[in-house]
Amino acid sequence: MKISVVIPVYNEEQNISLLYQETREVLERLDCSSEIIFIDDGSSDTTLSVLQAIAQADDRVVAISFRRNFGQTAAMSAGFDYATGEVIITMDGDLQNDPADIPRLLQKIEEGYDVVTGWRFDRKDAFINRRLPSIIANKIISWTTRVSLHDYGCTLKAFRREVIKNIRLYGEMHRFIPAIASGMGISYTEIKVNHRPRRFGTTKYGISRTIRVILDLITVKFLLSFATRPIQVFGLLGVVSGGVGFLLALIMTIQRQFFDMPLADRPLLLLAVVLIFIGIQFISLGLIAELQARTYHESQQKPVYHIREVFRSSASHSSESS
Ligand code: UDP
Ligand code: MG
Repeated sequence: MKISVVIPVYNEEQNISLLYQETREVLERLDCSSEIIFIDDGSSDTTLSVLQAIAQADDRVVAISFRRNFGQTAAMSAGFDYATGEVIITMDGDLQNDPADIPRLLQKIEEGYDVVTGWRFDRKDAFINRRLPSIIANKIISWTTRVSLHDYGCTLKAFRREVIKNIRLYGEMHRFIPAIASGMGISYTEIKVNHRPRRFGTTKYGISRTIRVILDLITVKFLLSFATRPIQVFGLLGVVSGGVGFLLALIMTIQRQFFDMPLADRPLLLLAVVLIFIGIQFISLGLIAELQARTYHESQQKPVYHIREVFRSSASHSSESS
């Protein structure tokens, strides 16, 4: 079994060497081959040159540099695309995840789970702007996806390769891999992991990410449930509403024609008109949603990142134009 550790980094110059050493030591003690893939997500500090030096000296390290900052999820996608191991481990690049937890994640994979996710039960981040929004987001995510985890946001996770091969990620979506995967019938489990305070550098995220996470959740939910036929969901509502409206109108027309009941002074007439219009609206909405779902599937071809260069040892780095 080969293990690939995927680490997105964005302006983490002070953390990388230490992280590399800690991770290397843990991997060395394992009874299998391994590689570390760093993705420099368009850093503006010296992150890339530190990575380059590490990749140059260690042939089990690959450093990928992005043309600009594409975000942590895109960086992970690139890592997945380049990873050659049967098991892939994702980790933050700021030393907040503890590489010492890797063997315990692998143990669960060996037990047969396809996805193992970390639970930062004692999270070392600020409460108001980081932990509180996460608590709320975690609740909403577990309601909507029906995948029950304590901590969706923890980057420290292990996946069997085949799980992520078929999932395309964008936005903030990496945290929903377990939810998307469980929709595919994949087994997952959660284990408690260590969480350490950030020692160097600053966090790249604030409350705005929680909002983006929730917006992405809507997309994921949409993909999981409505993806097949949105027109059927909205269309049904439209047909019911329009049908009731039409029936009311028909009844009133018959009463007017054959029983001489005047149409004026009938509040039901307004209701009938409203229901018919709501019906039309829903059917149109269903069509738009259908179009949207198709556009989504179409857009799968679009790359979510662009690579400037890939660095490996023995000066054999290659340029990429993707
Ligand atoms: N990161 C990234 N691209 C970004 C923002 C962050 O690759 O645009 C990396 C960052 O370097 C770190 C990880 O994602 O390795 C998590 O970021 P951070 O520590 O800022 O988030 P937090 O731990 O506070 O949730
Ligand atoms: Mg962090």
